[in-house]
Amino acid sequence: MAKLRFVGFLFLVNFASCLYINTTSNGTETENASEESEANGEEIGGNFQGDMILSPSQIYSLFSMSRNGLIDERYRWPKNSDGIVEVAYKFEVGDFTLSEKETIRKAMDEIESVSCIKFVHSDDALMKIYDGMGCASAVGMQTDRQYVSLNSQYCIKSGKIIHELLHALGFYHMQNAYDRDDYIKINFDNIEKGFESNFARYRNSEVSYFDTGYDYGSVMHYSPYGFSKNGLKTIEPIKEAKDSDKAQQMGQREGMSDGDVKRLNNMYQCSSKINQNE
Ligand SMILES: [Zn+2]
Repeated sequence: MAKLRFVGFLFLVNFASCLYINTTSNGTETENASEESEANGEEIGGNFQGDMILSPSQIYSLFSMSRNGLIDERYRWPKNSDGIVEVAYKFEVGDFTLSEKETIRKAMDEIESVSCIKFVHSDDALMKIYDGMGCASAVGMQTDRQYVSLNSQYCIKSGKIIHELLHALGFYHMQNAYDRDDYIKINFDNIEKGFESNFARYRNSEVSYFDTGYDYGSVMHYSPYGFSKNGLKTIEPIKEAKDSDKAQQMGQREGMSDGDVKRLNNMYQCSSKINQNE
């Protein structure tokens, strides 16, 4: 993996009337999957778990005994009689250039090409994609209104868009898996104060692998430097984990891993794939 020079990064995230400014710089050369920072854009900011916008009931259920979250079918987009899951979306008027819209559309095509999910542009859609101050998304289908924020400067990259769209489809972050401690070590001393909840573990009654295992290469996994306050790693692989050699993929934002594809298909029980050339 190429060594990339970290040049310092200023990132703003503004949601729910909260403004967070986070700067990180250490001037050192580090190995990283991200192009512009040690941490991916969505790993710096003020939403719950960095870039997820959760309803109060979702937050409550993640930390209560009830079964909810990703397993809960309330947040799953419905499948039509043809076995296709249509996700209606629209762009905020005037927010993106044609080229940016094409990049977003290509990310949708990538998801469509490996699943039964079909993104359909509709002026009546509840899900609005807009040029917000960060990369962020609600988790799973919302019944009133739904937002996906893709900052045009930081988030218009295929893997980052796919990451947010997978949130919108119902996926949380990989490193929050109930058995993650068998695979990674969280260095709480290096985490930015106030962002420790981003590294919480969920119960397996709430979040499922959907018949896959822990996946260092998931596009939903934080980078090793996510929410670092000092430039040191917040996540490290446990050497004893049988597939720790794959840990170098942590934080990749190139696209879906094989595991991501399998989880998506298992969650929505896809029996066909959308032809992206349709
Ligand atoms: Zn995320």
